[in-house]
Order: sequence, then structure tokens, then C-alpha cells
Amino acid sequence: MTQPIQQAAVTLAACRSVVALTGAGISVESGIPPFRGKGGLWEKIDPIKYAHIDAYAQDPEAVWRVLFMKLKDVLGKARPNAGHNGLYHLEQMGILKTIITQNIDGLHQQAGSRDVIEFHGTFAFQRCMSCGQKLDSKQVTLETLPPRCACGGVLRPDVIMFGEIIPMHDLQRSQMLAATCDAMLVVGTSATVQPAAYLPVIAKRSGAAIVEINAEPTPLTVDISDVALIGKAGKIMGELVAAVKQVRMETHGANDF
Ligand code: NAD
Ligand code: ZN
Repeated sequence: MTQPIQQAAVTLAACRSVVALTGAGISVESGIPPFRGKGGLWEKIDPIKYAHIDAYAQDPEAVWRVLFMKLKDVLGKARPNAGHNGLYHLEQMGILKTIITQNIDGLHQQAGSRDVIEFHGTFAFQRCMSCGQKLDSKQVTLETLPPRCACGGVLRPDVIMFGEIIPMHDLQRSQMLAATCDAMLVVGTSATVQPAAYLPVIAKRSGAAIVEINAEPTPLTVDISDVALIGKAGKIMGELVAAVKQVRMETHGANDF
């Protein structure tokens, strides 16, 4: 067992109220490209042009054709991987309390996790820009773009686009969890999109241990993370959960989960 994984496992095994902050990187092994980093969506699509609320307000059809139709295809095929499953296991073991995800793919819920804050919303629903009605994305016809509500208003995915703010309830609950967790497990986020990127800083300042898993170092790695595990989230999470179980067994003398 490599040393940083052992260190992370010892930290997590002693915790009862861990919060995970996840980003696009945890879903890469499920076939969903991230925005930044190697192979990221932003290498091909200009975010300000297509993922900004002003772009959608101006030309929703273009945003559907270039960005949302592609996302819909990719998200429709994706299934949880070892990264999502590992967080579910940590919840089952009484270690992980809540997941704050920046992802819009619903994969944590598919893996079985019960308390998931969708910080940037979800692609599973569409919202009418005129009357506010929410519809299951599966029931929305995309024969003509943009899709429309029965009231005639334009529908949009129930996600937070660039230029929009996080709903107050999600933001306040996430900040409260960051301030009170005993450790934060930060997985697959470039830690550059605010205010999500600030949550590990709040946790650290409040005394929590920070364990980071990412394919490459991030702005958190040197100053904020107590342990940084560099590599693919699925592979590392599998090893980490196995190591946590081992530590718990050694501590309690029996496998009590
Ligand atoms: P990001 O694209 O900015 O960063 C992803 C990070 O994951 C990078 O640092 C990259 O090095 C790392 N990474 C790539 N592959 C990995 C792997 N296999 N294992 C571990 N790490 C890996 O993503 P972000 O920080 O979540 O922020 C950008 C925004 O992108 C979010 O707001 C989110 O809403 C949106 N987004 C969501 C999805 C999704 O729902 N799956 C996909 C793309 C973008
Ligand atoms: Zn409507």
C-alpha cells in the first residue's frame, strides 16, 4: 500500500462526518469529458460563447445544437464508476455524510448516495424561462429547438450556467457543511470555479482534514490539501475504500460493516 493512501485511509477511518466535494473529473471514467484539463470540452467549445446565460438568452437554439445536444447524448449513456461507488461505500460505512457535487449528471444518486447537493443543478430536469414549471428531461421533445413549455416559454436545463448564481439554500447548506465536517474529500475538481472552489478553504480553516484526489495537481494541492492522491479517481477511490476498511478492521478487531 502506498503511503499517501494509507495516510488518507487513517484520517477517514476516524471520521463520522466527512463531506465530499466532487467535480467533472470523477465522471471522466464514466465517459463524460471534463471542461478543463486534457481532453476537456473547453478545448473545442468556447464557454463564454455557449455556456453563458447571456448566450442562451440570445440564441437558445445555437446553445442546444452545439452544447446541450452533445451533453444529452453523453450523459444518457453514462453509468456510475468506481469513484461514485466508493463514495457510496463510505456513506454505508458511516463515514461520509453528504456529497456536494458540481456535476449535473446524476451519477452519485445512480450509485446510491442519498444526500447529494447538486451545486450546479441537474440536466435531469428542464425549467421554463417564462412560468418556472419544471419538467423531467425525458419527457421533453427535442424535435424543434429550443424545446418549449406548454405555456409557449423557452425551456432550459435546470443547471447553473456561467453568469448565474448558486441558489441561496444550496450555497448556505454547503458552506455550513464545509465549516462543520471533520474531513473533506475533494475529488476530480480543478478547483477553479467559484464559489465551489472556496468550500475546501472554509473546511480547512474550520479545522477539517482535506484529502484530494485528482488527475493532476490543482490550486488546492500545495497549501490546502493535507493529502493529495494524484491519479484517476476510480482507481484511487477503490484503493482508498479498501484501505479504510483495513484500518477499521485493525482498529475494531473485526469487520463491522
Ligand atoms: P473541471 O472540468 O474544471 O476539472 C476537472 C478536473 O478533473 C481537472 O482538474 C482534471 O485534471 C481532473 N480529472 C480528469 N480526469 C480525471 C480522472 N479520471 N480522475 C480524477 N481527476 C480527473 O471540472 P469542475 O471542477 O467540476 O468544474 C467545471 C464545471 O464543469 C462544473 O461546474 C460542472 O458543472 C461542469 N461539468 C460537469 C460535468 C458532469 O456533470 N459530469 C462534466 C463537465 C463539466
Ligand atoms: Zn412555461
